Amino acid sequence: MHWKDLKARLLAVGKVQMAGEPAERYIARSAAGPGAGGSGAVFFAIGNYRVKLAVSPESSIQVVHHGSGTADLFFEGRSLSGHLLEPGFHCPDQAYITVTGSCIFSCRYCSVPRIGGKRKTIEEIRGMVESVRDRIHAISITSGVLNSIEEEEAYVLEVIKHLTAYNLPIGVSIYPTAGTPDRLKDIGVAEVKFNLEAATSHIFSRMCPGLDYGLIWQVLDRSVKVFGKNRVFSNVIIGLGETDAELETCIKKLTALEVIPVLRPLNPVAGLAGMRRPSAKRLMKIFAIHTRALAESGLDPRLAMTMCTNCTGCDLVPVRDV
Ligand code: SF4
Repeated sequence: MHWKDLKARLLAVGKVQMAGEPAERYIARSAAGPGAGGSGAVFFAIGNYRVKLAVSPESSIQVVHHGSGTADLFFEGRSLSGHLLEPGFHCPDQAYITVTGSCIFSCRYCSVPRIGGKRKTIEEIRGMVESVRDRIHAISITSGVLNSIEEEEAYVLEVIKHLTAYNLPIGVSIYPTAGTPDRLKDIGVAEVKFNLEAATSHIFSRMCPGLDYGLIWQVLDRSVKVFGKNRVFSNVIIGLGETDAELETCIKKLTALEVIPVLRPLNPVAGLAGMRRPSAKRLMKIFAIHTRALAESGLDPRLAMTMCTNCTGCDLVPVRDV
């Protein structure tokens, strides 16, 4: 079985039960996004391929840790030898840091507003980067919204000014305003990710009350002009009730703008806890559409230096997952 087929099946389950030696140092604990606040997740890797799975005692997938990261994965009667990756805050190889762990908005798929985490100080963030400096190649920054979108961006800009001295590529994913791409570029950010989240405006307005779908498209368009091709990304969730045709239209519209879509299988938590993860068959169908659309626009996910397209843990990434 090709890795991409196996990864689609693993992502369709999304969870893994851990056994064997203690694996605490390999458990990633997220403070942002749909997986935030859960019981953690592990990155299982075979060679350069990796998948991130939430830790859960109820999963049909089991990883047995033999110590020092060596592990076997048992799934559908197969046994695969690999290793666990040590996360550098949230994901391996990057310091991916959530600046503010709470949010005034209530996107239905996201746990952050329920966690009510605090805002990190600049000193805390610098300390976090220092603590993993010897094993990261990038810094990625995301954030909830503590007071207002404008105030959050101003704080994130201050944070970034203190991180450029590390001479690492910096990726930023925050909720934007019209001028955000230019301001981030001006202070030395390398890549940006502004998330559409939903394939249609209709679904977006149900999922993210109070946020502006049209503005995100406008900001993505501007971002490509400012950051260039292969430097702008946008998450779109698979499984919010959209059809395959709607998803295909959204993917093609993004790639026509030279934005690389990040197609994220729904993790049914928070207000969507009753929904189902997309099937492996659907993930593979969308993967084929995604792969074609990127190729037609000459976009190459291998060039990503930061954030999710570089990490590849949570999604099928064309050209990287083969
Ligand atoms: S793919 Fe993105 S959200 Fe998933 S672990 Fe990697 S950086 Fe985090």
